[in-house]
Amino acid sequence: MISALMPTYNRADLAFERGEGCWLYAADGRRFLDFGAGIATSSLGHGHKQLTAAIADQAAKVMHVSNLYRVPQAEKLAARLVEATFADSVFLCNSGAEANEGMIKMIRRAQYETGHPERYRVICFEGAFHGRTLAMLSATGNAKYLKGFGPEVDGFDHVPFNNLNALRDAIGPQTAGILIEPVQGEGGVRPAYLQFLRDLRTTCDEFGLFLGMDEVQCGVGRTGKLFAHEWAGITPDVMSVAKGIAGGFPMGAILARENVAKHLTAGSHGTTFGGNPLACAAANAGLDVVLAPGFLADVDRRARIFWRGLSAVVAEFPQVFEDVRGAGLLLGLKCVVPNTEVQQAFTNEGLLTVGAGDNVVRFAPPLIVSEAEIAEALAMVRRAALRCIPSPAPVAAQ
Ligand SMILES: *Cc1c(COP(=O)(O)O)cnc(C)c1O
Repeated sequence: MISALMPTYNRADLAFERGEGCWLYAADGRRFLDFGAGIATSSLGHGHKQLTAAIADQAAKVMHVSNLYRVPQAEKLAARLVEATFADSVFLCNSGAEANEGMIKMIRRAQYETGHPERYRVICFEGAFHGRTLAMLSATGNAKYLKGFGPEVDGFDHVPFNNLNALRDAIGPQTAGILIEPVQGEGGVRPAYLQFLRDLRTTCDEFGLFLGMDEVQCGVGRTGKLFAHEWAGITPDVMSVAKGIAGGFPMGAILARENVAKHLTAGSHGTTFGGNPLACAAANAGLDVVLAPGFLADVDRRARIFWRGLSAVVAEFPQVFEDVRGAGLLLGLKCVVPNTEVQQAFTNEGLLTVGAGDNVVRFAPPLIVSEAEIAEALAMVRRAALRCIPSPAPVAAQ
């Protein structure tokens, strides 16, 4: 018989009762070092005092009023995001897929309003992940996710990641823009080359296209800059954000330049829950931490320590690991043995991680992770690796 909770996930048989910082405590008394952070989402860890206080205070005052009224918490959040980024204006919503949908609508509408109604197609990349709505399945373009869900939503073309010639070849008279994750998360923790991101910017300017960044996973401090594209020294025209933006409270956002944003006029796009006082209180508390002087530089410093530690583990266990990849605190170990086995061995040692495509195990610890916790995680990785070394093939008898 089907479970009451729809079985769309292969869940580990673990249930957590509470968390504290980077640690999660299971109902059976075991504790785990959480280097998955709920898929790069609980960026302030668990039970963060300022975050939980902000949520509790706001919940007691007013949680939801709808976007028919002014929401001061949302105005404050948007102003802070505008101040800290390339963006001139922000649309608040509830999830990554919803942010991406809105971003594509914005790109299409901006082309339409500026004399190019024929430009509606968006070029995406192989190995991408943009969410599970019908249109984002097509933007993702992964056959496994699309199977059985009817005709694809038209308007998305796919080219190999990090390949400028292929990208330029795919541009046609109907192309409206480009959509890229600066670091592919689900696809296997693969960063775009910084030069590739710069070349995308130039190409968009050359052809009159809009550059859209999906920073749902790699944004909000995850790579040691507020947003991952900053490493390339370029800016997108529009960007989606979600996962870590409110420290684990559900929220998404679209950040856009005025030339893109101004075409979504009153009534052209909407959301009931998006930007409610409760979610915005959580996001503002999150930004207090991430934007505090020195915080991002310290994420970068700790991330480099973690990278060096993982590189040493790869060198020590070539039978188990092929390489370390990623950026900041979004790192992956490409495995030689099946990543599911490695991940299980990590869990057995008390370390939670997330699988990713291309046989990678992904690490996305809370951004507040300490050096001591990184050292502890590395010790667990090493112990687990010992258990994952394939036993040698039996020597044939002479
Ligand atoms: C998780 C993710 C999404 C989808 O976000 P949801 O909140 O699950 O809809 C989109 N893009 C990227 C890069 C993601 O990592």
